[in-house]
Amino acid sequence: MMDSLQELYQEVILDHNRRPRNFRAIADATRQEGYNPLCGDRLVVYVALEDGVVRDLSFEGAGCAISKASASLMTEALRGKPLAAARQLFADFQAMVTSPSSEPARDLGKLTALAGVREFPTRVKCASLAWHAVNAALNGAAPAPVSTE
Ligand code: ZN
Repeated sequence: MMDSLQELYQEVILDHNRRPRNFRAIADATRQEGYNPLCGDRLVVYVALEDGVVRDLSFEGAGCAISKASASLMTEALRGKPLAAARQLFADFQAMVTSPSSEPARDLGKLTALAGVREFPTRVKCASLAWHAVNAALNGAAPAPVSTE
């Protein structure tokens, strides 16, 4: 059971790395860069808000499989969410990837695929990068890139 679950999660990550969803720029959206110097991941996220709802969300850039898969899964998870729900999911995701790996992972649907990074502290930054960038964008775009350091 556990093995097949882990395989499934790996499949989700590999699939989103190979075919990242919403991998494009959005004109007239808030643009936020994110950089993870430990791994070299560089992503740009685009967030288009309308009436307090995340109307559209995308990303571009280059990074490791974890950072790209996480960004891709994030765009799917946050699209259409009201601002408050998007912020809550950011908090839930952070809690999931930073919780002790001895505890059962919080179930966040497909995003749970990334819970495996808990055992690899440097990978937590890869998984969190796009989320930090979006959070910064939601809080009013910062002119400087978001860094995980
Ligand atoms: Zn990385």
